[in-house]
Amino acid sequence: MNNLITAKFGGTSLADASQIKKVAEIIKSNSARKFVVASAPGKRFSDDIKITDLLYKCHSQAKNGEDFSATLTKISERYSEIIKALNVDFDIDSEIAEIKTKLQSGTTPDYPASRGEYINSKIIAKFLGWPFVDAAEIIFFNEKGLLDENTTFKTAGEKLKSLEYAVIPGFYGAMPDGKIKTFSRGGSDVTGSIIARSVEADLYENWTDVSGMLSADPRIVQNPKVIDYITYTELRELSYMGASVLHEDAVFPVRKAGIPINIRNTNKPGDNGTLIAATLPKDIEKRAVTGIAGRKGFSSIRIEKSMMNGETGFGAKLLYIFARNGIPFEHCPTGIDTISVVVSSELFDQKREIVLREIKTELDPDFITIEKNLAVVAIVGEGMVSVKGMAAKVFDALAKAGINIRMIDQGSDELNIIVGIDEGEYNKAINALYDKMIA
Ligand code: ASP
Repeated sequence: MNNLITAKFGGTSLADASQIKKVAEIIKSNSARKFVVASAPGKRFSDDIKITDLLYKCHSQAKNGEDFSATLTKISERYSEIIKALNVDFDIDSEIAEIKTKLQSGTTPDYPASRGEYINSKIIAKFLGWPFVDAAEIIFFNEKGLLDENTTFKTAGEKLKSLEYAVIPGFYGAMPDGKIKTFSRGGSDVTGSIIARSVEADLYENWTDVSGMLSADPRIVQNPKVIDYITYTELRELSYMGASVLHEDAVFPVRKAGIPINIRNTNKPGDNGTLIAATLPKDIEKRAVTGIAGRKGFSSIRIEKSMMNGETGFGAKLLYIFARNGIPFEHCPTGIDTISVVVSSELFDQKREIVLREIKTELDPDFITIEKNLAVVAIVGEGMVSVKGMAAKVFDALAKAGINIRMIDQGSDELNIIVGIDEGEYNKAINALYDKMIA
């Protein structure tokens, strides 16, 4: 039983009055949904412009000494339409006038950008008949611009627990001097997580325009299955490899407190979505693979040196050369007398000459071979732990599709199997693996 839910609604869920009405129905259909975090109005159709983007545009126009009034009028008109259709009493003109004054006096981009969620949340609060709580009064950053967790959780918790219900704007908080600071783009997800943690919610619902996280990229696999349950760790692996459904930083506040996240679809509220939790439910049917994701654009730098095996510290010295040139390594498969470092081609190409020179002078290798155009694919699932034959299945799927594996990596936690293949075979590989391991 969830007694207390924090529900965050994204930009497409709040893009116009009809979407806001759907959201209000969702909120009212479960009395546990007491704290609502709202985004700014997003896109209503594919080439529409998000309010946040219009606000950033106003700021850059103002900064360049250009006339921003037409852009600000577009923003004002969108809100006016919403206000009229919802039939709420709201003075949009004075909000817009305030943004205009701040823009004219040379504000940072954060202030205007934050007004998208600020105004939207005030309108939604009026429509629901709920109190509005400004995020600048409960979410705090320190001097370095990092979230001040302790003060935030305490202040937000105390303030919100004194209210029965509240609407809180996403995406921003306040610096120690009171100035507005935003999170990075998509940051309302982070606000939702912070609020869920502060009020000690039983569940953090994240309402968006898809019915959950997909088990593979829908641009590559036709109609991939929605993931019903996923652990925080699996989510981290899949997100790192390119699958995205939440802002990267949104997991941390709730994860520490063991609050599950439920990704839900505002346009299909009957769908269960994806539940992200610390562990998979016990009664879940044994599922080996949760999802498949990958990335292109890697190079493998392979070093061969006879008797490398006996040279303690060789690997450390090699990795340090990459590190001091600002190139993080992604994988590092080794043989007896060989070691390969898999890195981003983009980063490597910028430092190629210097890295190769340093490897030659400091490590005196017999051969250096560079393989480019590598894609890395991760097959992720906590269900794979201790299950025999998983790697065999992966290799079989790729072999049957005629794909050569150029690198293999599996951590001892058996949470994922990672293979490196030719970039040109990326889509074919993802489909072959999906068909064999998930479909
Ligand atoms: N409105 C902000 C953005 O477009 C934040 C958010 O929606 O999460 O990035």
